[in-house]
Parts: sequence; C-alpha cells; structure tokens
Amino acid sequence: MVNKPVRNSLLCPNCRKLISRSAQQCPYCNLKNPSSKIKNNFFTTSLSNSDQLVTTLISINVVLFTISILIDPKISSFQFSPFNFLSPSHQSLLVLGSTGTIPLFHLERWWSLLAANYLHGGLLHILFNMLALRQLAPLVIQEFGTYRTISIYTLGGVAGFLISALAGVGFTIGASAALCSLIGALLYYGKSRGGVYGQAIFSQIGGWALGIGIFGFLFPGINNWGHGGGMLAGVLLAFALGYQDRKKESMAHKFLAMCCATATLLVLCWSCFNGIIFMIL
Ligand SMILES: [Zn+2]
Repeated sequence: MVNKPVRNSLLCPNCRKLISRSAQQCPYCNLKNPSSKIKNNFFTTSLSNSDQLVTTLISINVVLFTISILIDPKISSFQFSPFNFLSPSHQSLLVLGSTGTIPLFHLERWWSLLAANYLHGGLLHILFNMLALRQLAPLVIQEFGTYRTISIYTLGGVAGFLISALAGVGFTIGASAALCSLIGALLYYGKSRGGVYGQAIFSQIGGWALGIGIFGFLFPGINNWGHGGGMLAGVLLAFALGYQDRKKESMAHKFLAMCCATATLLVLCWSCFNGIIFMIL
C-alpha cells in the first residue's frame, strides 16, 4: 500500500523552517498566519539563492539591450570604435525609457526613472556594469539578504536618477546608479559593523567608490550626480532596512521587495510595448 503524501506541513515563508500547515503562528519566528496564500506566494518562497537574482538582473539587462538595438536598426553602431560599437540610437533609448530632465519634466515619463536602470548605451557600457554587478551583488545579498538587495538596487537606482534630473542632467541611462546604491549600502555596512571584517569591506568598497569618482571626472558624459545620488540613497536604505547581523530579513522586507519587483516588471513591459509601437509605426 502506498501512502499518499499528505501536505500538512510547509516551510515558513519568513524563516524557511518546516512548520505545521495548521499553525496560527510560526513557532520559530512568530510570523502570524504562516500558511496564508498572500505570504506564501511564488516571490516570497522562490528567491533562495543569490545566483538567481544576479542571473535574473543580468538577463533583463541583456534582453533590454538587444531590444534597444533591434528596434532602431538605423544605428551608427558600425563605426569601428570600442565606445560606440553596438550602440542603440538615441531615439530608441528615449522610446524605451532613458531618463533625465527632458523625459521627466517635459515629457512626464516618470516611469523612465525605473526603466533607465536597465538600458545601456553600448557594448562596453553594459559589459562594465554587468561585471560590477556580478562582483558587488553577491556581497550585498550575503550581508543584507536577497529581498533587501532588490529594494536597495531598485530604490537606489530611482533615487540616483531623480537626483541627477534635479541637478539638471538632460538624458541618462545605465545600471550604475543602482550599482552605486549597492556600493553605498556596503559602505554603510562596513562602517556600521566595524571590526576586522567590517573594516575590510569598507576599504575594499571604498576603493570602488573612489575609482568611480575618479573615472567620472576623467571621462566626459558620466552621470556623476546619478552615481553620487545612488551612493547616498544606498547608505540611507541600508540604514533604514538594516542588515542580517542586526536584523534578519522579515516579511516586511519581502513585501517591499515584491513591490519593487512588480513595479520594475510593469515598467519594463510598458517600455517594451513602447518599443514595439515605435517599430511598427
Ligand atoms: Zn518562521
């Protein structure tokens, strides 16, 4: 006789420990109604390892980059220069959601504050940013958790671009404001945690911040306001959300991340829809 598996237990959506499905409260983390459908959704239970988030972010960036090149084939990208090799046109980036004073204050495309984080101006631009993401994100995920990382990345990118628009930057794109938010969060973490490990993180990441600052002043066209604004936002977000050593990720962190991810998904769908309309007309 084969026993039918009875699903009378589940993993707590907050602390991931095995608990009874009928429990009113998780005995480990005291989460109320741990079996509720809202708390046990795909999002709160699926992002268990850091690789998933990094791979997802890189894939989204690559897809958007490909679309930005494909929707406007009349590009100047075949001039042989490493800086504009495979560059989408200005028009195509505007359609998909480049942000700045013109898209925000003249065209009222507020959604571009989010969309621009996933757009890049050329092969080297996306390559550098994705390499930086690959380096920085796993450390942020380790110290803050996957869900807080999503919020720091999303909100920091938006804040960086908003600050750069308020400072008068006309057009801007790229993952670097969001990456600078990760840097800001790690700087806060290193300083706040202290000790040998905290100091090591602080000086290693401080090196990144310094490098980005020097790079920004040496090369034209770098959005230093976006970088600085993103970094500042990262520090504030890290302070507000806390990190694993002090406060484990909670359901509230997961909900904030879910809002960020949903908003990003909707905005990027809208961005692609705009791209398709632009291509048809
Ligand atoms: Zn629990």
